[in-house]
Amino acid sequence: MIDKILIFPSTELFLGNQLLKTDKLLELCGNQKVVLVADAAIKDLYAVALAKKLRANLLTIPSGEKTKNWDTAQTLIDQLFQVGCGRDTLLIALGGGVTTDLVGFVASIYMRSLPFISIPTTLLAMVDAAIGGKTAINTPYGKNLIGTMYPPQAIFVDFDVLQTLPAKEWLNGLAEILKMGLIRDGSLWEMAQKNGESSAMILQAILGKMQVIEQDPMEQGLRRILNFGHTIGHALEAVSLYKMPHGQAVALGCLVEAHLSLQLNYLAKEDFDSILAMYKKFALTLPKTYTRSHLLQAMAHDKKRAFGQIRFVLIDQIGHAIPFDGAYCRSVSPNELESTLDWMEQWK
Ligand code: ADP
Ligand code: ZN
Repeated sequence: MIDKILIFPSTELFLGNQLLKTDKLLELCGNQKVVLVADAAIKDLYAVALAKKLRANLLTIPSGEKTKNWDTAQTLIDQLFQVGCGRDTLLIALGGGVTTDLVGFVASIYMRSLPFISIPTTLLAMVDAAIGGKTAINTPYGKNLIGTMYPPQAIFVDFDVLQTLPAKEWLNGLAEILKMGLIRDGSLWEMAQKNGESSAMILQAILGKMQVIEQDPMEQGLRRILNFGHTIGHALEAVSLYKMPHGQAVALGCLVEAHLSLQLNYLAKEDFDSILAMYKKFALTLPKTYTRSHLLQAMAHDKKRAFGQIRFVLIDQIGHAIPFDGAYCRSVSPNELESTLDWMEQWK
């Protein structure tokens, strides 16, 4: 059953249960040559059956963030040549954010671009990585530093594939949903808190991200709110040498940035306490390799930095990021930051 069909400016979004078992995707394939590229770990779960249904060539990439690099992209490109892909070949990505980012990147550069469809299979990819048109690979200098803007023709969100998702991967996606709840959607926060019906929660999180991107496509102001929790979160990932999963880092980052909002007297203690209670379900531990100086050094690369100062998105209630005259972020003094880091270091 297809529950909902939405149209982005250039992308059709299909959501539903048993979506991969319907003929919708087959219809979109038409009589094009189709190559399905899947995360190797879900080959037997979903990829083999889907490739058969679509009469597609099936290629796999190894699982994990360490795969998302030039070498894998190059190997995939070679395989596309070997199976005879031309510019009219439809490339379909099936997997989490690693797969959708990498395959999207290859689709955007192979013969100067191929038609591309994305099928995110993790909660994180459904609500975040696969929404917004970014493609990426990692480099030794950092995550996602090489990439393109290449929105897929269609995104298929099949809620049923989440049934096989390990619990820790669910939490990683939940971290981005909670972030969306904190910055602009109190009702989404409530849904997540009550372990609400997941398909409604996923749809609401996707719509939230799409609305923010539509209002600020060039990231001149409002879109910065999506970066809440990520100033600290990205730095924690770097300090952990990328061993800490993105969702865990963002969860701790959101909590610490909510604490900063409390400390600067924007957020009420009562709100902060319920935020703290919610994040107890995450493993709130700092990476073993954590040092404060390394964290501060890593934060210096934050993209919201201006005039040498690190800036933070802050909230004044659950569901509302502070506009700060349209900048949606503000700098904090070294002392203010240090006292929130003192508080964070209880999780050493
Ligand atoms: P993310 O989506 O968080 O960026 P990945 O693409 O690395 O992360 O996916 C996280 C892990 O979940 C990988 O080990 C991947 O093989 C696995 N995975 C992806 N989708 C599913 C699924 N539907 N069922 C079970 N495991 C999955
Ligand atoms: Zn994120």
